[in-house]
Amino acid sequence: MPNVICPCGFSVPKGTRCDCATKRAAARQRENDQARGSAASRGYDGKWAKESKAWLAALGSPLCACGCGQPANMVDHVIAPKGDKKLFWSRSNWQPYHDTCNRRKAIKSEGGFGR
Ligand SMILES: [Zn+2]
Ligand SMILES: [Zn+2]
Repeated sequence: MPNVICPCGFSVPKGTRCDCATKRAAARQRENDQARGSAASRGYDGKWAKESKAWLAALGSPLCACGCGQPANMVDHVIAPKGDKKLFWSRSNWQPYHDTCNRRKAIKSEGGFGR
């Protein structure tokens, strides 16, 4: 029985399926998990959700800092911390914000093409 060479380089008996597809799927899954882990380690994790909510609640019901008049429902950074932990957790760098305004601001600061 001649073997066939799977694209992964593994030689398998003709008619049998190489298990590399399963292995690849598992590897992809692992990569996804790692990507999630690094997003959390950038600071946007449970701690941020908890602390920013508590900070917002302590202000009462603040309005969005952009001046739109909507009640704030999230905390935004005055200066984008870009990985700077001190700036990220510095309360003086926090401002009450509304998520739709935050999205608009993010698009603007990223220089969205013609948006
Ligand atoms: Zn294979
Ligand atoms: Zn606003």
